[in-house]
Amino acid sequence: MRRMAAMVAPLGIFGGTFDPIHLGHLELAREVRDALELAAVRLIPAGDPPHRAAPVATAIHRLAMVELAIEDLPGLEVDRREIDRPGRSYTVLTLESLRAEDPARPLALIVGADAFAGFPDWHRWREIFLLAHVVVVARPGIPFPGPLAPALADEWTHRQVDEPQALHDATAGAIFVQSITPHDISASSIRLQLARGAEGIAAVRGLLPPVVLAYIDRNQIYRSRPDAT
Ligand code: ATP
Repeated sequence: MRRMAAMVAPLGIFGGTFDPIHLGHLELAREVRDALELAAVRLIPAGDPPHRAAPVATAIHRLAMVELAIEDLPGLEVDRREIDRPGRSYTVLTLESLRAEDPARPLALIVGADAFAGFPDWHRWREIFLLAHVVVVARPGIPFPGPLAPALADEWTHRQVDEPQALHDATAGAIFVQSITPHDISASSIRLQLARGAEGIAAVRGLLPPVVLAYIDRNQIYRSRPDAT
């Protein structure tokens, strides 16, 4: 862990497909930001996510939904670099470019427990710990920390810290577990509901910001897609 004096507050990095963004994402970002005293949490929609099926909504729609969702939420930002960058949206490349922009600022990559368990499949995953801290949040229905691949379990053992201050004292390298209020909301279940049309719109009210729901409705984004899983 690289230590430096008089650090600036860490920037939280929260990537995802956001297909669509929902209150589970937004509440998580807000709670983590407050709990860890992050300068901000930056939401970074993936252009071409490497670890899952292609998103249903276009990158432009997913970005627009994130922009609308955070409009009135201070401390949350959106960053379009993964959408603008050609090729796969590898997190390590995103962190490299953020690190180059601001070498002294701690970065805190925020991931759900499901995403964290999949780390060993990520491109150059060990280098992520050289570029950022990793903040892991539990997700309803996902065992935590759950069974981890041995190489990741090893990182977990060596890097885990108990005090959030550790995220302010070094630019990268720690793993911190943040407990948050559970919100059992998933984008895939929202898409399934929305495929049912008007009935689905009513069913998902309260799971995502009204302004995002209105955008989805206006653009008929998740209507009757048999592959909307
Ligand atoms: P899906 O339901 O299709 O899996 P998702 O909401 O998990 O969608 P992403 O947008 O890729 O999809 O999620 C981004 C990040 O947010 C991931 O790290 C994921 O673990 C986390 N996340 C999403 N929803 C929740 C939630 N309700 N609680 C905690 N973490 C969540």
